[in-house]
Amino acid sequence: MFLIGSHVGMSGKEMFLGSVKEALSYDANTFMVYTGAPQNTRRKDLSELKIPEAKALMKESGIEQFIVHAPYIINLGNAVNPSTYELAVSFLEKEITRSAGMGSRILVLHPGSHVGEGAQIGIKKIVEGLNQILSADTPVYIALETMAGKGSEIGSRFEELAEIYDKTVHSEKLRVCMDTCHMHDAGYDVTHDFDGILTAFDKLLGISQIAAVHLNDSKNPQGAHKDRHANLGDGCIGFEALSYVAHHPALETVPKILETPYLPSPEDPKKKVPPYKEEIQRLREKV
Ligand code: FE
Ligand code: FE
Ligand code: ZN
Repeated sequence: MFLIGSHVGMSGKEMFLGSVKEALSYDANTFMVYTGAPQNTRRKDLSELKIPEAKALMKESGIEQFIVHAPYIINLGNAVNPSTYELAVSFLEKEITRSAGMGSRILVLHPGSHVGEGAQIGIKKIVEGLNQILSADTPVYIALETMAGKGSEIGSRFEELAEIYDKTVHSEKLRVCMDTCHMHDAGYDVTHDFDGILTAFDKLLGISQIAAVHLNDSKNPQGAHKDRHANLGDGCIGFEALSYVAHHPALETVPKILETPYLPSPEDPKKKVPPYKEEIQRLREKV
């Protein structure tokens, strides 16, 4: 089955049930949620998320898996400010519990930024954090996202992710989330050579480690290190290449998640509407 969905919201009265309904409104069969606002750490209790109702609707409509994204303010790589790092560790522990409670096996995490100390110090700090958090009993996988390399982000090269794997004691709890916009911005040739990317990834980490794909076009040329997502076909990667990634046989069981920007509404250009229903349809039809 072609696993395709998008990032969806979780708010209001319906919370997680609303997330599932939103995914279904796009004809998606998987999706991704943040457990609250991605830019802060305020979170509702699991009991308020309408989890049983959401799970019942997923079962009824054949959605078997979804993924959770940790908030991007979490920075395990900060070796300068102990309170940032401590917050990252304690919050990530809670996100693991929340993700498992909601029924997700995958928690996507931006590895972190070294904030000027250099990649080696950043990687050391990230590994320290993962070693503090992960145990043999951790109920979800932490999927490290491939990053665009803007600012001092770690994880724009597969080598850096491989180094994190090598030094993490419970690396069996790690996975990778490949973001096509980020890989392109990091310098990988998603447009012409996705198979070459997979070969390079396989040598360093193993294709079986890919647990999710973020399917986005990029507003900037290859290697720009900018991280600005574009709608499929409106960016520098192009629809054909993104459709090739989406339908790649090596990634058949991996959820593909759109994080493309909202578009101005045709009725009211001041209003923004999600592009996901149309993008999912285009991907299914490959046109
Ligand atoms: Fe992300
Ligand atoms: Fe992403
Ligand atoms: Zn991004």
